[in-house]
Parts: sequence; C-alpha cells; structure tokens
Amino acid sequence: MAIAQAAFDVEAATRAYLATVSGAARIRSDAYFEGGYWLTLWGALISIGVAYLFLRMGWAARLSAWAQRQTGGRMFLATALFLLVFSLLTAVIELPWQAYTGYFREHQYGMSNQTLGEWLVEMLKGAAISLPITALAIAALFIGVRRSPKRWWAYGAAGTAVVMSFFIAAGPVFIEPLFNTYKPMPASPLQAQILSMARANGVPAHDVLVVDASKQTKRISANVAGLGPTTRVALNDNLLATKDDAGTLSVMGHELGHYVLGHVVVLILSFVVLITLAFLVVSVAVPALIRRNPAWGIKDIGDPGAFAVWSIVFSVFFLLLTPVTNSLIRFNEHQADIFGLNAARAPDGFARSALRLGAYRKLEPGPIEEAIFYDHPSGATRIRMAMQWKSEHLNEPGVR
Ligand SMILES: [Zn+2]
Repeated sequence: MAIAQAAFDVEAATRAYLATVSGAARIRSDAYFEGGYWLTLWGALISIGVAYLFLRMGWAARLSAWAQRQTGGRMFLATALFLLVFSLLTAVIELPWQAYTGYFREHQYGMSNQTLGEWLVEMLKGAAISLPITALAIAALFIGVRRSPKRWWAYGAAGTAVVMSFFIAAGPVFIEPLFNTYKPMPASPLQAQILSMARANGVPAHDVLVVDASKQTKRISANVAGLGPTTRVALNDNLLATKDDAGTLSVMGHELGHYVLGHVVVLILSFVVLITLAFLVVSVAVPALIRRNPAWGIKDIGDPGAFAVWSIVFSVFFLLLTPVTNSLIRFNEHQADIFGLNAARAPDGFARSALRLGAYRKLEPGPIEEAIFYDHPSGATRIRMAMQWKSEHLNEPGVR
C-alpha cells in the first residue's frame, strides 16, 4: 500500500479536476456565489429597514391598536391578526427584492426554468401555508410572554422545537406534493445500486424517490426530508439526467449519510439552542429598545406591535450568527461527505458531482471565506477529500 500511495498525488489529482472548470464558467459561478454574500447582508438590512419604518411611522402601534379593537381585546387573536397583516404588508414592500433574488437573478445566471407567473404562484402557495401557522405559533408565544415574563423563553424554545418538528415531518407528506411530484426511482442498474447501498447502511429501501425539480431549476441536487415515519431520500431529475451513475451514486451515498447520522434531529436540536439564545437576547434588547423609543407607541414586549421590534432583533442576531449557522450545517455536510465516500466507494464520481455543484457554488474559496459563508464544503475541499480517500483505497476492488 505504501508504494501505491506514493504513486498517487492527491494534490495533483485535485488540481487536475479543478482545472477543468476555468475561464468564463469559473468567473460566472464565482460571481453568482460571491453575490450571495451581499444578498445575505442586504436581505437582513431590508427587513430591519422595513420593520424600523413601521415603528418610526407609528404604523406598528396603529396596527396593534386596530387589531385589538377588531378582536374585542382578546390578545391571542389580536396578536395573530397583527402578525397576518404585518407579514402581508412587509411582504408587499419586499416583493421587488424577493423577485430579484428568487427570480430575476436566477435567470440572469441561467439557473431557473420558471416563468415569473410560476414563481409568483409558488411564492403565494408557500405563504398561504406558512403564514397562518407561524402567526398562530407566534401569537401563542406572545401569550407566554405576557403571562410568564421570566420564563417565556423556555416555553418558547420548547414550542419552537414542536412547530419545527411538525413542519419537517409534514414536509414530504403535505407540503412538498403541492410543489413537485415525487415518484419511486424507475428500475435500472443505478437504482439497484442505490437500493443495495441503502440496505447495506440500514436505510429502508423503499425510500429512494425522484423529484421533478427541473420544473423550477437547472441545479442538480438530492436531499433527505421528513422526520421519523415520514423520512425519505430523494434525488432530483437534473441529477439523474447527468447519466453519470458513479456521480449520482456518490451523491446518494452522501444523502444516506444524513439519514443514518440523524442529521435532521441534530439540526432541530442545534436550532433550538440558537433560538433559545435569540429569545434571551430578545428578552433584554426588546424592552430596552421600547423604553428608549417612546415615540414608537409600543406598550411593552408583549404588545402585538412589539413584533416589529422582535423582528429587528432577530434579523441582527441571525445576521451576526451567519458564520455559526453555516459552520453547523457545513460540519454535518462534511460528515455526510465522508459517509458517502465510504458507502458509494466512488471518489471520482464524487469529484465530478462536486464540479457540477460548482455551477452555483464558488469552487475555490479562501479558508476564512469558506468558514464564514459556506454551508457546504467547497468544491475544492470536497474533491481533495475524495482524492485523499482514493489514495487510501488504490487498487481495491469495487472502487469507481
Ligand atoms: Zn448534504
């Protein structure tokens, strides 16, 4: 083995893969991804700006008073009504921004297969599902804030875990079918290999589905969704259309890694820790901001109108935490990569898939850039990982 390892140069093999994407294609994907850093910042600044406008102009206070009058002072309903109207109004103000990031920019970079009408309908469908449920959930949280000023954050964190688990569990059964069609993968040698790899890793074999993602996008991808009995692994039709069996198998190995390593639960628990911190920051920052700005006309932290202040604090908190949330997810993705390499034993397929993902993710960032902005390992990191794996398994049977 020692001789074989010396004969394979990991760095040279990595460079050779990276060199296949150069010139205009490289400039384009770098620009697309780097632009995304600014979108994160601008997106947060816009929602902070809009919430501030509502406070500064007294709209939040007036909307809160109106919602309380409409509901006869029943605070749960008043808060839910406030949230519905506030969310709709802010969504209308932010529509041009959403259309730019979600539709026009995607077309500019050749990623989207949607018409503007299709994009709008999907956005409205998404809002129709999420708005009422989040409004009711936040209204319940505000009841906690008013009744239990010292301990609401703990109830809030527990409630967040329940609501999040509900959405994730309901995803594959009730939500995803409203947007896309999921069908069992048709029989083929590749399908047999994926099912065999799934069984070998203790994953129920009926769980591999194909989703018609080409309706919306040109991106290749696969994912694990659901929770407990609703869990399923799916690959998208763009990935299948590459006709790169080893590449697809390596991606599915990665997805099985998420499944076997329980990443859905890990991410729910991680998010609950972050949201608990966010609530603790809110419990200090929101009353302080309200006290300092009597002109806003917000009574206290439990006033429905205070949600505009909450929204500012949340936006700042999660903007500052971007490197933390990215790194949390990236750590799981790295684990899934290693799992996938061991399960699929297709390092060159894995490297080719990493290059394809490079169409929308800058291939070679600096180390700090990767730590801050990447929620998946970069293409360069992934290809190096694959070539390292390959160098440790040279001349073994069954390696593709
Ligand atoms: Zn992944």
